Amino acid sequence: MITENLAGVRERISQATQKSGREPDSVRLITVSKQVSVDRIEEARAAGAVIFGENKIQEAIPKIEQMGAEGISWHFIGHLQKNKVKFLDKCFDLIHSVDSYELAEKIARHCQSENRVQRVLLQINVSGEAAKFGMEPGELEERILDFSRLQGIQVEGLMTIPPFDSDPENSRRHFSRLRELRDQGVKQSGLLLHDLSMGMSHDFEVAIEEGATLVRVGTAIFGPRQATPGGN
Ligand SMILES: *Cc1c(COP(=O)(O)O)cnc(C)c1O
Repeated sequence: MITENLAGVRERISQATQKSGREPDSVRLITVSKQVSVDRIEEARAAGAVIFGENKIQEAIPKIEQMGAEGISWHFIGHLQKNKVKFLDKCFDLIHSVDSYELAEKIARHCQSENRVQRVLLQINVSGEAAKFGMEPGELEERILDFSRLQGIQVEGLMTIPPFDSDPENSRRHFSRLRELRDQGVKQSGLLLHDLSMGMSHDFEVAIEEGATLVRVGTAIFGPRQATPGGN
């Protein structure tokens, strides 16, 4: 099943890039493996998945230790508590979810002490939804230069999670807003900000039409996750 699902998602990505006149390799698929067992993640790896997304440090680290990083890479896509930064330890090629300047500073300081540079995206709450993590667009504007000056991190783009809407067309404006914020941030800061992480199982095609370079897809590959206390 996983193999077929993965092929189906790849095909949909390819069609969405064609439809929007983009190069097929301008979009990378993050296979979201949170709450998925190592056996099933291995199945996805065998089927050619190369980037895996995890949203909890304590769940991700044992999986990464078990599976290694040979030919694959791991991205962190969840809310990162500041007291967990010390556990990052070179595990993740990209952190999608830096949602405050304080967290960025903390990661930067930690990575500087390890003599490395962590690639990150800044998570923006484009919809203004109160329950969501992410910076307000105004905060991004105010602080983008501060982010660009931090050593120990390299900001490579923006990420967003719009409010769930069963009709993906309703999320289009949020995706295009993120792209506008990116373009504006590039002008303001000189950062390259080439990545836009947006789009999940139910809406990644619309996200691609609006410029996504990274789509984060779980359910459409692994099937529904078990509901757990404390959210997904
Ligand atoms: C769980 C999760 C996804 C994947 O969602 P699906 O609907 O299963 O594709 C994407 N992004 C983030 C940040 C997530 O936590």
